Amino acid sequence: MAKEPIIADTVEAFRRSILLALLGFTSSFGLIFAILNYYNDNYAAMIGEIAMGSFAFFLIPVVRRTSHLIRWSFIYLVLFNSTMMLILTTPMAAPSVFAWVLLIPILSQMLLGRALGGGVTIVFMAIAYSIYVMRYSESAVNGNPRALFNIAGVAMCIFGFSFIYETSRSRAEKALKRQAYTDPLTGLGNRAYLHERFEEEKTRYERDGSAPAILLLDIDFFKKINDSYGHEAGDNGLKAMSALLIANIRQNDDVFRYGGEEFCVLLANASAQEARDTAEKLRRIVETSSFDESGEALRLTTSIGVASCPGDGTDLQTLLGAADKRLYAAKVAGRNRVVWA
Ligand code: GH3
Ligand code: MG
Ligand code: MG
Repeated sequence: MAKEPIIADTVEAFRRSILLALLGFTSSFGLIFAILNYYNDNYAAMIGEIAMGSFAFFLIPVVRRTSHLIRWSFIYLVLFNSTMMLILTTPMAAPSVFAWVLLIPILSQMLLGRALGGGVTIVFMAIAYSIYVMRYSESAVNGNPRALFNIAGVAMCIFGFSFIYETSRSRAEKALKRQAYTDPLTGLGNRAYLHERFEEEKTRYERDGSAPAILLLDIDFFKKINDSYGHEAGDNGLKAMSALLIANIRQNDDVFRYGGEEFCVLLANASAQEARDTAEKLRRIVETSSFDESGEALRLTTSIGVASCPGDGTDLQTLLGAADKRLYAAKVAGRNRVVWA
């Protein structure tokens, strides 16, 4: 079973294309501006532009492949902004060069998100402001404060709008992600979420040896509930089963709807023996509980296959395979039982 596409991949692709566009832009325009500055006798700016342009050019293939996009974006933006600041300090730079400063808030927030992007924006806008005040203190600040107000006003607006944009984008991303990871009937996490959660547990295992285990549960003769009481009663049974499992696991454990009437419990940090005990406890709780269906108390039983890390494997695929085989064995052996070996 392939890992399902995750929203984060889309965001990453969006950020990667923004950074690639910026790199393409810097390498081509860097050359043009370097030529212009050569004729302007602004050699410091020319050198900065050539250096930035070549760096951007060589970074393109790296950014296409990297899995550390935020890191490269941060490094590049800091260099890009620093070069811009350096050019602003050269006496030959025209006042209109300050217009480029307005790119900082948009690029920072798009590439780095609100927190880091906001930080980068504030630092470089403050530096640009200081350079502006130092260079034009007489003519602009005292002599013509409106010029400064105009620039500061536009900069604040762009900062504000990109902040709002990034906030709503990140909210939409979270909502989409929640939706993509949730089973609508039971509200439990789905298979895609199980994969993501297992990766977290696997990382923890590799770090400190606290091993996860999984229980695969399949309700016994569930088809009978549907056939005898209707599909809606079946749905209610699935909801009751979800609530029961959630109420009886530890805080760090998780329940997922694995398939139609199949559930997967992910136990964080459980030995093989603890996993068996938990499975047996859950089996008994399901057996002794009932759910109300139009005044009638309906009962369910469940068969459970157990697999634990590292004895049965360390990746989810292998553990699920082992648990599934044992679940099948539990069915063959008569149902309403736990199989762990
Ligand atoms: P076994 O003990 O072998 O597991 O028997 P079973 O009847 O549970 O197994 P089977 O796989 O034959 O049937 C599973 C049934 O679960 C069939 C399907 O209609 C029902 N089912 C799957 N998803 C849903 C659902 O979302 N809602 C309802 N009401 N029924 C569902
Ligand atoms: Mg089934
Ligand atoms: Mg079943």
